[in-house]
Amino acid sequence: SLKKVELEEMIRTVPNFPSEGILFRDITTALKDKKGLKLIIEDFTKRYENKGIDYVLGADARGFIFGAALAYNIGAGFVPARKPGKLPAKTVREEYTLEYGTNAIEVHEDAIEKGAKVVIIDDLLATGGTAKAMINLMNKLEANIYELAFLIELEDLKGRELIGDYSVYSILKY
Ligand code: IMP
Repeated sequence: SLKKVELEEMIRTVPNFPSEGILFRDITTALKDKKGLKLIIEDFTKRYENKGIDYVLGADARGFIFGAALAYNIGAGFVPARKPGKLPAKTVREEYTLEYGTNAIEVHEDAIEKGAKVVIIDDLLATGGTAKAMINLMNKLEANIYELAFLIELEDLKGRELIGDYSVYSILKY
């Protein structure tokens, strides 16, 4: 659609960041655009409003930006999945592999109640390692994953395959 073409034009592509051979999709150029930010948040809101979503789980750090705005709009709570050592209370943790390196993420173990309906959100789906780690965290807490949502999906990296049977939504595909 016209809106998606407009949005796509707001994403900056930076070659060789953060390392040689990586084509980095920079969303800050879409975020700073008044129309861009609105297009993104309105798209996610339309998809998840009135679905009985209890929580939006956002990935550190760019998942916080969309996640908090979405949660506010649909009347859900926001829960951050954070890099290790940032959350003060008792956490559950998952190790994962990135497109460039390895990492771990944590959530507070009391952040989400058993059976609560959750949308998992991040800016970009690449190999799916981060998303899979968030799925594993939600399964540890016995949450009910409604869907995973991304602004951008890099289709060549087959993140969907790693995610398996969970429903995946992305606004833009590259
Ligand atoms: P994955 O775990 O391989 O799917 O990588 C996705 C994670 O890495 C997300 O948290 C993204 O923010 C980040 N990421 C990977 N590639 C890019 C990129 O090209 N642009 C922005 N973020 C990226």
